[in-house]
Amino acid sequence: MAIMEILEVPDPRLKKIAKPVDTIDDGVRKIVSDMFDTMYDARGIGLASIQVGIEQAVVVIDLQEDEPPLEEGGEPRPARQPHVFINPEIVWQSEDLNTYTEGCLSIPENYADVERPARCRLKWLDLDSVAHEKEFDGLMSTCVQHELDHLAGIVFLDHISRLKRDMILKKLAKARKAA
Ligand code: ZN
Repeated sequence: MAIMEILEVPDPRLKKIAKPVDTIDDGVRKIVSDMFDTMYDARGIGLASIQVGIEQAVVVIDLQEDEPPLEEGGEPRPARQPHVFINPEIVWQSEDLNTYTEGCLSIPENYADVERPARCRLKWLDLDSVAHEKEFDGLMSTCVQHELDHLAGIVFLDHISRLKRDMILKKLAKARKAA
């Protein structure tokens, strides 16, 4: 298990653009495994390679939506459903939009409403180099689009008003100074 350092805004490395993975080898498998460790450790639901300073196009997502408790009044059980997307590419987006209050491991403890296409169709490779294509909706669609933005050097702050963005950046700088 290896926890990587998660870059935070305004780190210029978050503006880098990921390059496609050539060969899915043990090196890539190690990156994926370390990215899952890092994402779970930080209690995130998605992580893109660019956020840990790696410029190969890799995204991991696990919404960890709770399963109902085993017995009445019991604790809900967080279910793990890890998804790996290598060289992901959005091939279609719906015209209808959806708004989610988004957070980001690179923008800790700050949230903002972001409007995005409600559904999207994604093409990607899995760890066995097998190609997939699937349509996503709901939170998964939002998460996929948020993570793919990272591979293009974009964070959710780039989707909101300048006023709101500056406010969040200021708050982050202040929190960092106090720490
Ligand atoms: Zn993010």
